Amino acid sequence: MKPDHGQLIYEGKAKRIFQTDQDDRVLVEFKNDATAFNALKRADLKGKGKMNCQISAYLFEVLQAEAVPTHYLSQVDDCWMIAQRVEIIPLEVVVRNIAAGSLCRETPIKEGEELSPPLLDLYFKDDELGDPLITEARIAKLGLISSDQRLEIENLSFRVNILLKNFLKRLDLILVDFKLEFGINKNGQLLVSDEISPDTCRIWDQRILDPKKRILDKDRFRQDLGGVVDAYGEVLKRIQGAFSNDRTCS
Ligand code: UDP
Repeated sequence: MKPDHGQLIYEGKAKRIFQTDQDDRVLVEFKNDATAFNALKRADLKGKGKMNCQISAYLFEVLQAEAVPTHYLSQVDDCWMIAQRVEIIPLEVVVRNIAAGSLCRETPIKEGEELSPPLLDLYFKDDELGDPLITEARIAKLGLISSDQRLEIENLSFRVNILLKNFLKRLDLILVDFKLEFGINKNGQLLVSDEISPDTCRIWDQRILDPKKRILDKDRFRQDLGGVVDAYGEVLKRIQGAFSNDRTCS
């Protein structure tokens, strides 16, 4: 059921953000639209919005339980969550545990190589420019954030990596890499924002060795492997299992 909402504030590729009756809160709707390669490839994947909303909600809860500040407040319906209103910093922070994707296209590093310590890459969030890799010096030149804020973002991202990697490992899921976005709320607090889902993470099934069959994330869509929503469903099922076990144990 669609919750009551105010005006549309922003529509992105995978989500819509609406006003609520409280200034500092927004309603986030997760859409079924799938895009890849800077939106050159598109599809409507029934059930994807629902999966990503629930997976994000659970993963934000995992982070909040360890005192990582996030914009997430509650889930209101299958495809909707309430979040703190933030100003999004135009950076994409990617943390990589295993080499894949652009890292292997842009460097001689081979897919599957373990990255220890994990590698952190920053990208400038700009659709027209195709979200290019950005340097510390360019961030300073553009005045996007201070160097203290950048350090805080990097430290938080590494912490998120440890928490998510360990949580997913318990479920036989390998966190290959993921992208985070950060926002600043009305009190000036830095929060992990946006979403954390198989659209924004690479997740491999540790129970499967086949390099294509083990993929449980958006690479199934990027590489036309099929079974995208089923793969997301598998991730959700395992996470739900962990939450219900924890509840039974406590
Ligand atoms: N990612 C994302 N949004 C983007 C770019 C990347 O969520 O606009 C995620 C992607 O799903 C993967 C990680 O960030 O989990 C690293 O992506 P990569 O740089 O390898 O780029 P890609 O191979 O997706 O082009």
